[in-house]
Amino acid sequence: MRIILPALFLAMIQAQTPPAPPAAPDPVKTLVERLDLEKYKATIKGLTQFGDRRQGTDRNRAAVDWIEAQLKRYGCPTDRIKYVYDPPPAGGGRGRPNTGLAVGGGRPRGDKIPTGVNTDPMKQPDEKLRALNMQPTTPGPREMVYCTKVGTTHPEEMYIVGGHMDGHGWGEAANDDGSGTALVMELARVFNAPDVKTERTIRFALWNNEETGSQGARAYIAQRQDLQGKENPPGSGKYPEPKWLGMIQHDIMLFDHGMPLPDGTMRKEQRAEADVNIEFQSNSKMAAESMKLAWVFEAANEKYATDYPAAVGPHMTNTDSGPFIDIIPAISLRENERGVQIGNGWDPQWHQPTDVYATYNDKDFRLGLNAAQTTLGAVAGLTGATLNK
Ligand SMILES: [Zn+2]
Repeated sequence: MRIILPALFLAMIQAQTPPAPPAAPDPVKTLVERLDLEKYKATIKGLTQFGDRRQGTDRNRAAVDWIEAQLKRYGCPTDRIKYVYDPPPAGGGRGRPNTGLAVGGGRPRGDKIPTGVNTDPMKQPDEKLRALNMQPTTPGPREMVYCTKVGTTHPEEMYIVGGHMDGHGWGEAANDDGSGTALVMELARVFNAPDVKTERTIRFALWNNEETGSQGARAYIAQRQDLQGKENPPGSGKYPEPKWLGMIQHDIMLFDHGMPLPDGTMRKEQRAEADVNIEFQSNSKMAAESMKLAWVFEAANEKYATDYPAAVGPHMTNTDSGPFIDIIPAISLRENERGVQIGNGWDPQWHQPTDVYATYNDKDFRLGLNAAQTTLGAVAGLTGATLNK
């Protein structure tokens, strides 16, 4: 008796205590799991059929049409921004003063290898790709496409999730910025599934003319900033331009093989310590708010990204979030920091004929997928995403 009594007593207590209800499954985790490496790769591959997608060319316009068709297929209603781009005369730019700092304000370390934009067609050994990229850019009208997931309880507020669809350099712009464009398109696919609801609105923007100075993003701001939060028509419950809560840009997501080696070559594989770089700009009016947003993304990475961690840095520069930095919280996600790392040559394919799909392997593509998991997790939380039963 003495031996079995405690067991009996325990059994009685257990019988009286109802079991704790199972924790409700996290809908955000379910959404993140709908991202898929092969689907992400297929979307990048799809973009590369238009070569480098240089702004002001037929291949760029065909890419805008293709992107729009995909977004519609995902159930995400589209719209376009129209603007005119007339490039300034060549040679008019002032050089940067030599401060010893990189663009964006960071301090470079280690060996630097030269960077630049390739303008020589003959450096592209693939004759078919060379021919595809041959039409030159001409000044004139431009278009870019976006699509919108309307919020259920706060349709009047939104986050903008962006990537730039134009490229240059006589490659396929597979990484810069096919990888960011595909990330945004994949998020549009997941968020617009019929069983997904968000309380707040999300706009998926595929900027054009980033490589010439973010004229697509600037046109968007010029045309739509004053429309924010206005119900139109009044009483309709429709907000053509919800109030901007934040802008999150994705620009070059795949390649983090570390700094150049002393002999000027690179490691052949993604480094084991590869990370997603989340940047804000400390020298901006919205620095505090942007930093706060950056850490929301870092936390989402810890919770939802399967392979690679994230690092937050204060020197965001040269991307479509730039025109937003004094207006709203604005951040970017990248494979490396733009100023001190990419600027120091950490990505040897950057704006080169080698930025083609075949250059990258699954470890590279997986870094981009981890950035997608990070942004999907963060934006799902920020917009109150839920799943219909
Ligand atoms: Zn880019």
